[in-house]
Amino acid sequence: MEGWSDFLILESDTKREVRSSIPPDIGICEDYLREVLDKASRFHMYPFHSCVNCGPRYSIMIKPPYDRENTSMKRFPLCEECRKEYEDPQNLRRFFAQGISCSTCGPKVYLLDSFGKVISSNDPILEAGKLLQEGYTVAVKGIGGYHIAVIATSSEAVERLRRRKKRGKKPFALMARDIAIVERNAYLNERERQAIASPQRPIVLLRKKSDSCIVPEVAPGLSTLGFMIPYTALHYLLLDSTQDKVAVMTSANISGEPTCTTLSCVLDNLGEAIDFILDHNRPIINRVDDSVIKFVEGKEMFLRRSRGYAPSWIEVKTHFPKPVISLGAFLNNTGAIAFENKVVLTPHIGDLDSYSSIKFLFSELNKLSSWYGLSRSKVAVVIDKHPLFPQNRLYKKILHTQYEEEITVQHHCAHAFQAIAEFEWDKISGSTAITIDGTGYGEDGEIWGGEVLTVGEYGCKRVASIRDFPLFGGDLAAVEATRPLAGILASYFTDGAEDLLGSLKLSDEDKKRVSLFLKIIDAKIERIPSSSSLGRLLDAVGCAIGFGCHADYDGEIPMMLEDLSYNGKEDNRVEISHIEERGLIKIDPRKALEIISDIEKDEFSNYVYTLLLKIGEKFGDIAARKTKSDYVILSGGAAVNKFLLKGIKRILEENGKELIVPNVVPPGDGGISLGQAIYAGQVLNGYIKTKR
Ligand SMILES: [Zn+2]
Ligand SMILES: [Zn+2]
Repeated sequence: MEGWSDFLILESDTKREVRSSIPPDIGICEDYLREVLDKASRFHMYPFHSCVNCGPRYSIMIKPPYDRENTSMKRFPLCEECRKEYEDPQNLRRFFAQGISCSTCGPKVYLLDSFGKVISSNDPILEAGKLLQEGYTVAVKGIGGYHIAVIATSSEAVERLRRRKKRGKKPFALMARDIAIVERNAYLNERERQAIASPQRPIVLLRKKSDSCIVPEVAPGLSTLGFMIPYTALHYLLLDSTQDKVAVMTSANISGEPTCTTLSCVLDNLGEAIDFILDHNRPIINRVDDSVIKFVEGKEMFLRRSRGYAPSWIEVKTHFPKPVISLGAFLNNTGAIAFENKVVLTPHIGDLDSYSSIKFLFSELNKLSSWYGLSRSKVAVVIDKHPLFPQNRLYKKILHTQYEEEITVQHHCAHAFQAIAEFEWDKISGSTAITIDGTGYGEDGEIWGGEVLTVGEYGCKRVASIRDFPLFGGDLAAVEATRPLAGILASYFTDGAEDLLGSLKLSDEDKKRVSLFLKIIDAKIERIPSSSSLGRLLDAVGCAIGFGCHADYDGEIPMMLEDLSYNGKEDNRVEISHIEERGLIKIDPRKALEIISDIEKDEFSNYVYTLLLKIGEKFGDIAARKTKSDYVILSGGAAVNKFLLKGIKRILEENGKELIVPNVVPPGDGGISLGQAIYAGQVLNGYIKTKR
């Protein structure tokens, strides 16, 4: 029961002038799952069971307030028995429970073939479970969207799904029937156990046990697994019907597109990738993807904040004199609206590289603005400095006339602000912020991603960065590590670049590519952007030690390096220094790169462990020396790297500085819309003096 009551909506007749937080979707509570499994209960085996504390909310809402007639449950009139319980004030769990229903009056489940034809079956869920166990691929309609499921114990089934979904090596999420099954496959400490079983039921990243029955194809090259447990009775019954009780549950979407919420989307886009569909007839009104959490050095961090959390509001220490809408960044995007002292993030939108995801962003923002009663004409819109983000272009071209004011904020500056939502500005002003990630458009138009900033009435000022290197190829630079490696060799080693390249551990073919890139850089035919991205530096390191120079997804190589470091010990040969250039401190990994040729293969985990730790320590050292408060902020996608964080923490503890990381949103781009809003709040309040 603990935790669920927080989501209780006490009054549903709240007047429109008084805003109330929109309830997020909550996993089925223990008591109600027990009823589903109880042969004597009238809800035995009923897949949509929910009570006043649990069940879908936002995903079925057509409009606020959360009353049955405003949800997709309105098409399921209560049967006599359900109505009696709904109207009975003595029945604490069902009285006024807007979502209640039973097998007589509620939604129905169907098993379909991949063309959408109904397969007649007495028990579609049991049937689907058997099919999963036999290795078939089943699309499953859940709460906020469809998943694609395969049994997680069959290499063949998982491989086949990767092939059919055209998904490279990006890890799949898993759903296990219960915690005991999770525990059989992964290490869980008390806090991880609490998180995975919490009402929000996020995916939690865990260390895989060596005798786990989960096949390596689920997360190729990684020793972490993302686990969740069922958040509806339907999921529970499905997994219980399999023999192995654990399945891959990945969002049903084609790459770059939002998750399917309708059967026609699944049939049109994924018909070739699946064998069967476990469907039901309750419409999904609002798309909500699964949330993802990782514990890093004792800190609970979001990797994605969506189902279970969005779109309930986050109370912040900033008061917004007028409403704000932030448009976020590009990868793993969310948008946000802000009013009073509250910020509301959209559910996970995804990468903005398709028309439908851009549309999804704006439709969520419009919906939330109207549900929370913002008047558009008085709104300030906050955008990232990047001139090419599609939502920024759309805004500048068409939408800007509808809004009163526009505020621009640099990417990493917004990252810094997303960590300080729970702090008073006067306590934070003067602090330093370590902002580390893959890429962001810098104040100077270059590619940033490894910065120390200070925050104050000027907004953000850069005091340090990774020693910069030329980086060309645009988006390709994020997946072809030969590009940053060439840039680093060319700028750190000038004349010795080719010699050093010869001694590195990458394949001959990759060496040829790097060599070609070195010539292109040397020829100076066109201006090549300069980069201080930590993500790209780590890509280059992974490439140089022979880990592979091609990433399937942004951040893959740094994740592999983190994974490798779990078995690492400190190697004294690894050194990170710094230089000063034109008033800017530059963190210089040159010496650490120089010695790669001396490192034996079995020493790589020590090398990488020490490299990450020392980079973290160097950042921590600069930030601790430059901060004018008791705090140092850490944010950006790379903030969830255990060993970077460990290095930073170690130094800050020595210096008596407190580390602030984003608590309520992801430190990466999925939380940047909060940072944009908080920044705008300081501007609108006059605490940040910038031309408006
Ligand atoms: Zn319940
Ligand atoms: Zn009923």
